[in-house]
Amino acid sequence: MTRAPRRPTHELALILICLLLGSLAATQAQPAPPAPPPRVHFVATGGTISNRDGGRLTAEELAKSMPGVDRYARLTFEQFANVASSELTLPQWLGLSRRINDLYANEKDVAGVVVSSGTDTLEETAFFLHLTVRDPRPVVVVGSMRNPSTLGYEGAANLLEGVRVAADPASRNKGALVVLNDEINSARNVTKTDALRLQTFRAREYGQLGVVDRDRVVFFSQITQRTNERVEFDVTKIEALPRVDIIMVYQGASGDLIKAAVDGGAKGIVMATAGAGATSGTQGEGLRYAYEKGVFVVTTTRAGSGRIAPRRTDAPPPNFRMTEAIQRRRQFAISGEDHIPVKARVLLMLALTKTTDRAEIQRIFSEY
Ligand code: GLU
Repeated sequence: MTRAPRRPTHELALILICLLLGSLAATQAQPAPPAPPPRVHFVATGGTISNRDGGRLTAEELAKSMPGVDRYARLTFEQFANVASSELTLPQWLGLSRRINDLYANEKDVAGVVVSSGTDTLEETAFFLHLTVRDPRPVVVVGSMRNPSTLGYEGAANLLEGVRVAADPASRNKGALVVLNDEINSARNVTKTDALRLQTFRAREYGQLGVVDRDRVVFFSQITQRTNERVEFDVTKIEALPRVDIIMVYQGASGDLIKAAVDGGAKGIVMATAGAGATSGTQGEGLRYAYEKGVFVVTTTRAGSGRIAPRRTDAPPPNFRMTEAIQRRRQFAISGEDHIPVKARVLLMLALTKTTDRAEIQRIFSEY
């Protein structure tokens, strides 16, 4: 056995440098393959967007209706329900929120979730998800005003825009988002303002959060209330939502409806008052009945916007003549802040799953 002659050290170093330069050049010559687009998961619940004459479109058919979606996302999908939005039940809301929370907990490669919904009560479902999905990644709710059998159906375009928003990292930590008609609105502030027109979803005086343009998703503003990981409602701990009813104030209204809600088992009532808190007819009597029975009453306005401010302090002013009726009212009356009645109802249902302390419920109204 002969021993191989040893190379001098400087010769070895030269060979090593050449090898290194060679591999560097090879790397530069072959550009890294482009990163695959982010994964977006689509959950279909039904609504006009799927309501084709002769049979509703499935989640799969909707997913396949978007030309060019692969440029923006690797889309996965599931059928959660296929009904009009007003047919979704409260247990289904809980199930939908649990499903999205589970998905985010277990599937880290999902960048965002898109939920399709009918538009009639979309703002309620979206606000419920806004308050219960505890992850920085976005939930984007989409729908359409024209059904797939109508000329000018805008469902596939809205869905694709929803997917683009869900895939965009800028959409994180903004709560649930509602995307229709090229506009991005916060689920907290948006409401359906027209029964038929395409430009129906508006955040009124708060304005849109952003837009979906041809080239990119652009955000202009941010909401300031608690969202995402800062929300405190844990759907794994909520078995059922308590009954909360909404009663409207109108000239000469009867308090009997309030009594009926209380006797029917409501744990809370949202009053859509006239102006900033006015009731009418015999509603005062109905409210006294509710307070006696320990039912929480949230004051909101039927005006469409305007903030109902809470009391500065729970301490009565000096020399105040406190009656038992006033004391009861102070124990169960909540100011609805700037929430419209249907959103206040969602928030009160969730608040009542956590506490029956008036000050705590008022805190919740002031923080969301
Ligand atoms: N506009 C209805 C809704 O909000 C949809 C009608 C339907 O899908 O049957 O759900």
